[in-house]
Amino acid sequence: MRKPKIVILGAGYGGMMTALNLQKKLGVNEAEVTLVNKNDYHYESTWLHEVSAGTIHHDRARFKITNTINTNKTKFVQDTVTDIKLEEQRVILENGELEYDYLVVALGYESETFGIKGLKEHAFSIANINSARLIREHIDFVFATYNNEPEKRDELLTMVVGGAGFTGIEFVAELANRVPQLCKEYDIPREKVRVICVEAAPTALPGFDPELVEYAVTQLERKGVEFKIGTAIKECTEEGIIVAKDDQIEEIKAGTVVWAAGVRGSYLIEKAGIENMRARVKVDPQLRAPGLDNVFVVGDCSLVINPEIDRPYPPTAQVAMQQGPTCAHNISVLVRGQGELQEFKPDLKGTVCSLGHDDAIGMVFGKKLFGTSASFMKKVIDNRSLFMQGGAGLVMKKGKFNFF
Ligand code: FAD
Ligand code: NAD
Repeated sequence: MRKPKIVILGAGYGGMMTALNLQKKLGVNEAEVTLVNKNDYHYESTWLHEVSAGTIHHDRARFKITNTINTNKTKFVQDTVTDIKLEEQRVILENGELEYDYLVVALGYESETFGIKGLKEHAFSIANINSARLIREHIDFVFATYNNEPEKRDELLTMVVGGAGFTGIEFVAELANRVPQLCKEYDIPREKVRVICVEAAPTALPGFDPELVEYAVTQLERKGVEFKIGTAIKECTEEGIIVAKDDQIEEIKAGTVVWAAGVRGSYLIEKAGIENMRARVKVDPQLRAPGLDNVFVVGDCSLVINPEIDRPYPPTAQVAMQQGPTCAHNISVLVRGQGELQEFKPDLKGTVCSLGHDDAIGMVFGKKLFGTSASFMKKVIDNRSLFMQGGAGLVMKKGKFNFF
């Protein structure tokens, strides 16, 4: 008898957790499972602010996919998905194609620039390992350039970060820690360097606990970060950015602009013609795309409504990792034709935002955490992610143990 073909697109948190759970649920004779990913490694997206600032090496934030999945049960294909043909139940890859009976779309996030002029051309984004490495290399390059030009251009040493959401805050915190090292390395006085975080909303970390936000902003300002709150980036140019606060327009010249002010799902969702909002699919309670009973969507490509506030849950690794087991369960029920489909109900434990390797803020199980205890918790969360994907061995290899 022909085995049903299950194809998982993307080996981020959602894809990895689906694949690892399917391995436990289904025997080799029950289905043919294929995991497709652009690279042969999984990267911890939640560590990319550190890679971008250069406070950790990029290899620390990635591991080989075939070291953690069971290749006897899951076939791994390293390739780039270029299209999904829903009617024909086929996925087009750069170097071939795959047929499926059940599809899991777990292609993650892309930067959302909201059509702001010049951002795509002139700003960096923290989107994957390679874009993070580019930011790190660029920062090193501008610092190295500074003393080698006949006329010193101080604006080269200005770094602007768009957005004071969790990504923007975590990234400026890493930058603030890296700046003293960079200054030493490239013989540059610290006062020449500016790190500016621009946020359109009336506060940093909009919606988060105000006491924790104040703690974060104060700590970062102490390390030299400048905040421009209630100020929107309107344009990005070769020279820097144009911002607006009320009716005031200002140009900020900068050598580095990093856009961390929003995410969307994969462009492939739109290309495939799946109903979406900013490339995110409002899935049914079983995590399926509307009207497509054999197409599951997990992670940042999915949109799950929180019924308590009738708004989507924020796209997080926490949600993506929890969707994996539900998605795997539901596919195994459909493959076997027996059992009950499960509804996805996120069990959110809280949020912890790092402020460099030694400081953080968090709201965990409804309790506020600051400083060392929050930072400890963040490392526990980071290590737990590794544990869930690769067990204790992976934690020992890549984990974070510099607790204090
Ligand atoms: P991703 O992790 O984005 O993985 C997608 C995978 O698909 C990647 O392996 C990619 O290479 C692959 N892929 C993409 N396109 C293709 C293609 N065309 N063909 C083949 N493969 C492809 N969330 C939290 O809960 N806690 C945190 O502390 C946290 N910190 C964060 C810090 C930063 C700096 C950022 C940027 C985000 C953070 N998030 C955090 C959010 C979290 O990273 C995302 O919600 C999460 O990564 C989504 O997981 P995913 O599985 O949907 O996709
Ligand atoms: P976000 O959408 O959460 O925040 C973007 C910020 O940019 C917002 O504060 C918004 O007001 C601001 N902004 C938008 N347009 C702007 C403009 N033109 N000028 C200036 N500011 C502008 O995006 P994010 O921070 O990248 O987070 C994406 C997802 O990842 C979220 O769900 C977040 O919770 C998650 N995340 C979680 C953590 C954590 O838990 N530690 C860390 C990073 C990201």
